[in-house]
Amino acid sequence: MNTAPDVALPGSTLHVDFQQKQKLLSRLALAFSLILVVFTVLIFILLPGIRPGKIVAILAVFGFAAISRLCLRPEWFRPSAVAMVLLTMIGGFAGSLTNGGLEGYVAPILITSPIAASLFLGTRATIISAVSVVAAYAALLLMEPYGLIRPEPYSEHATSIAALFLLATATAFCAAGFAYFAHDSKQKINSLTDAQSQLISASEQLRHAALHDTLTGIGNRQNLQRHIEAKLREEDATHDQICVIHIDLDRFKEVNDAHGHPVGDGVLRKAAERMVKAAGKDDLVARIGGDEFVIVTTKRSQEPAAKIQSLCETIIAQISRPISVNGIECRVGASIGYIISDRACSSTESLIANADIALYESKRCGRGVAHQFTGAMREGIESQRTLVSDLKLAFEEDRITCALQPQVCFDTGKLLGLEALGRIRSHSDGELMLPAAFLDIMENVGLIDAFDERVMCKALDALIDLRGRGFEITYIAVNASAKSLRSTRYVETMQRELSARGLTGDSLVVEVLESILIEDRDDLAAKTIEALSQAGIKTVIDDFGSGHASMWALLELELDGIKIDRSLIANIECERSRTVVDAVLQLSRKLNLTSVVEGIETPQQYAALKAMGCEAAQGFGIGKPMELDNLSHWLEAFGQSDIAQLQDSIRQSGLG
Ligand code: C2E
Ligand code: MG
Ligand code: MG
Repeated sequence: MNTAPDVALPGSTLHVDFQQKQKLLSRLALAFSLILVVFTVLIFILLPGIRPGKIVAILAVFGFAAISRLCLRPEWFRPSAVAMVLLTMIGGFAGSLTNGGLEGYVAPILITSPIAASLFLGTRATIISAVSVVAAYAALLLMEPYGLIRPEPYSEHATSIAALFLLATATAFCAAGFAYFAHDSKQKINSLTDAQSQLISASEQLRHAALHDTLTGIGNRQNLQRHIEAKLREEDATHDQICVIHIDLDRFKEVNDAHGHPVGDGVLRKAAERMVKAAGKDDLVARIGGDEFVIVTTKRSQEPAAKIQSLCETIIAQISRPISVNGIECRVGASIGYIISDRACSSTESLIANADIALYESKRCGRGVAHQFTGAMREGIESQRTLVSDLKLAFEEDRITCALQPQVCFDTGKLLGLEALGRIRSHSDGELMLPAAFLDIMENVGLIDAFDERVMCKALDALIDLRGRGFEITYIAVNASAKSLRSTRYVETMQRELSARGLTGDSLVVEVLESILIEDRDDLAAKTIEALSQAGIKTVIDDFGSGHASMWALLELELDGIKIDRSLIANIECERSRTVVDAVLQLSRKLNLTSVVEGIETPQQYAALKAMGCEAAQGFGIGKPMELDNLSHWLEAFGQSDIAQLQDSIRQSGLG
């Protein structure tokens, strides 16, 4: 979106008017030619007979006439001007030699030579011809006593008239030259003034472009830096404190992905407008990255810090209002981190960096909130950063794996499928890290979809391996993050990985958290679920009843099953709990949905859920999440067990 400022730099207006010079030279040469014609005629009348001077005069007539024509062609202009200077110089000198030297009537003509040079040829030629004129006059002066100069052939009267005439011509010539110069200089001054004002406005436009964001028109990063520096200088004098508020739009990427960049740009503009409205008139609002903004405001010494918190909350509320762009209603949110300057933190860099840390904290706390920077945050962030780089490394070093937890059929006691639960093997001690330690960070750094994909591949590999070892496993279930579910690539990737292993869609089940479905009412999840169903892959709602219970999801989405959250069965011995779970199971049967219950830990829970008609069971009481080899042993021990065996194993595990 960046556009160069529309600056028309002067140039064409500054060139010296060449055509005018051509015209002037042509007219002067013509005038000389005509004057010489008059003189030649007069000479013939006054002094009949052929003389060398007369032949020179006739040739000069033609010479000047030729110059007046030739100089109109651009490529001949310079040679014509040189010829003009030489002709006036040589003609003037030769004429003076044969017509009475300095006292003769031709001498004044010499003066026109440097004038012509200055008009048409530039400084060097002017100096050379001026020096030549002085030399010619000196030569005439020196030659006179030796009788080298022919005396004046005309009467004194005629000579005076001619000399006056020539002087008048030379004066007119000079006047024309000065007039031309005055005009030329005025033109140059005008065009220079124009050029100057254009340059000033160009430099203003460039300055504006250098300090403002072209998309939103608000400040940019450079502007922000300058502004903070200036405010810091003021701060010393006023005792006010600077507040740097770092704002990051939530879910902006999804808007961009779903509706394209033009709509995304529109959202950014409107968000910027709302920030400008919320901020004070002396505050700076700047965009410093894709969907990142900073507001610099001031906390007066008598104002409470709560004022800044409330400003941040206003901004969050304003940005969270629907934004309509080209008739499309978009919803984004905002997370904010801010810092109020103090002695310990009073440099531009540290203010920006610490506001960023506070922002990170807000994102970590679930977004849509504002946090003020505290020293403890920095320590937390440092260990987070180490973790983030370790997570990135885990991809490269193939340390992403999955633990597999069995799901068994209540009716037959047989193994139905497995849930693949993502794990990261620690690179120091080889222990498996649980999702709670890294899922949020993965999400914040944008790696969660890559993680889901890697776990899915590992899960499919495990399925093939186990089937290869002779275990009958109908499906393997994987968990989908919100990002995966909103990605158009998600189903394609699954299909590709399934067919690369010669598997069909019914080998895979996708578990989607209820909370994700509630958040995502913008259709993207619904589309993915539909595509999954078309690919023969089943989708179930995970953690059903964990607090987000939504009839909307059951009503609108092409779901295949529900997974009852373990919180619902924790107190299954209680009548109330049984009533709720029973109702959920009845609902699922009526909607033709499969039912799995998770978190079975005790035989009582197992028996109660079985009695209620739940289809499949998962829980520590049956089998904990295990790595492939452990699971393989577990499966061998479990065999194609019946319910009695299962209950035995629950008892043996000490849970019963
Ligand atoms: P979930 O999908 O509901 O998985 C069940 C969680 O409950 C697992 O925790 C499992 O170890 C635990 N669990 C199973 N049976 C019992 C039981 O009887 N008692 C108790 N106390 N816990 C039980 P885990 O592995 O820590 O996973 C936690 C959550 O992390 C998962 O909940 C799932 O939402 C998420 N998750 C796991 N793997 C992935 C993944 O690959 N991608 C994504 N996006 N999320 C994942
Ligand atoms: Mg799950
Ligand atoms: Mg669950």
